[in-house]
Amino acid sequence: MYNITVFTILPSYIIDMIPSLHQANVTGKTVLVRVDYNVPIDENGVITDDKRIRETLPTLEYLLSQNTKIVLMAHYGRPKGTKNLKYSLRFIAEYLPTLIKAPVQFIDDCIGETVQKTIQSAELGTIFLLENVRFYVEEESNDVEFSKQLAANGDVFVNDAFGAAHRAHSSTTGIATSFPQAKYAGLLMEKELRILKSVTEQPKKPFVAIIGGSKISGKIDVIENLMNICDTIIIGGGMMFTFLRTFGHSTGTSLVEEDKIELAQQLIFKAKEKGVQLLLPIDVRTSPDFSNSFEPTIVECCDIAENQMGLDIGPKTEQLFADEIKNAGTILWNGPMGVFEFLNYEHGTKEIAKAIVSATTNGAISVIGGGDSAAAIHQFGLEKGVTHVSTGGGATLEYLEGKVLPGVYALLS
Ligand code: AMP
Repeated sequence: MYNITVFTILPSYIIDMIPSLHQANVTGKTVLVRVDYNVPIDENGVITDDKRIRETLPTLEYLLSQNTKIVLMAHYGRPKGTKNLKYSLRFIAEYLPTLIKAPVQFIDDCIGETVQKTIQSAELGTIFLLENVRFYVEEESNDVEFSKQLAANGDVFVNDAFGAAHRAHSSTTGIATSFPQAKYAGLLMEKELRILKSVTEQPKKPFVAIIGGSKISGKIDVIENLMNICDTIIIGGGMMFTFLRTFGHSTGTSLVEEDKIELAQQLIFKAKEKGVQLLLPIDVRTSPDFSNSFEPTIVECCDIAENQMGLDIGPKTEQLFADEIKNAGTILWNGPMGVFEFLNYEHGTKEIAKAIVSATTNGAISVIGGGDSAAAIHQFGLEKGVTHVSTGGGATLEYLEGKVLPGVYALLS
C-alpha cells in the first residue's frame, strides 16, 4: 500500500502548483483519464442526472482535439472488490456516445495484457472506458502493483475525478507515482478547485454558509473552519435538533445526537466569540414518523410533542433564512434543510434553493457543495440559476475542512 503523507499546508497553495492539462504535450499519446461517473440511476437503470458525465466533456473534447487516444478509468457503486456485474460501467459506455462525437469502446476489465493490446491496436481519436476499477479489492487499498498495472494502460495521467479526489485509491493516487513528469489535473478538476479556492479565499461579502443534512457529526470540522471565513452560518436539516437541544427545547423523536449536544453548544459559543452569526430555525414541520404519509404540522421552536419528529424547517424559518441569503455576496450550500426526498417535506429546502437563485440573479456567487444539496437543486430544476454545482460532495466537505485532497496532492510529486 502507498503511504499518503498529508502535509499541513493550505490546499490553495497546492492548487496553484498543479500542472494544468493545457500545459501538457499529449499529441499522439494514450491518455489515462480518471473520471467520476458514479451517476444516479432509477429503478430501470436509466441515468437520472448525467451532470458528472457532461462535466468531463471539456477534458475529453480537448484531448480529442490534441489527437490522442483516451482511456477512461472510473468506479461505480460499492462492489467491494468483487466482479459484480450489477456495478458494471458498460451502461456508461453506451450513454457516452450520445454526448460526444467519437467512437467509445468498452473494455470488460481494467488491467492486463488483453486490455493493453486492445488499446494499442486502436486508432487515435478512440475513447475507451475500462470496467469498474473497484472490481479489484486492490483499488481501495491503493495497492502498488495494481496501481502500476493501471498505469501500464497509458502514457500520460489526467485526474478529472474531483468527486473521488478525497479518496487515496490506486486509480486516484497510487497510479500517479508512475507518471513523474506526465500527470495533470483535468479541466473539471481544475474548475472545481479554482471555484472553491476563490470562494474561500476572496469571498464577496457578506459570506453566508448554509449547512444542513442529517447529522452534525460529519460536519463539525466544516462548521468550525467556515467560522474563520463566513459572516453567517445557517443551520438546517436533521442536525438543527442537536443545536436546538442546547437551549432545552423539546425535540420529540427528531434526529438528535445526544453525545454531540455539548459540542453544538461549544460551536454556538465559538461563533459568538468570532463574531459569526449562527442562525437556527424558529419553527419546524413535523410528522408522526419518518415517512411521506402525513401532512406536516408546523411547530414553533421548539415544542415538538413526544411522538412527533421534525422533518423540515417551517415557513417562518424559511423567511428568516431567505432574508439573510438575499443580502449575501457569496453563498455556500451543503446539506438539505429537511427530508427533501419526501414531497411533504421538501418545502424548506426548495424555498432556500429559490432564495439562493434569486440572490445569484442579483449578483451573488453561489456554490452548491455537491451530494444531497446538488441532488435537491437538480430535483427542483434550479441548477442553472446558481453559479456552480459541484460534482463532489465528500471532496467539497474535506476541502472546506481544510484538508489536502490526496487525489490532488498526488498530481504534484
Ligand atoms: P447528509 O448526507 O448528512 O448531507 O444528509 C443528507 C440527508 O439528510 C438527506 O437524505 C435528508 O433526507 C436528510 N435529512 C435532512 N433533514 C432531516 C431531518 N430533519 N431528519 C432526518 N433526516 C434529515
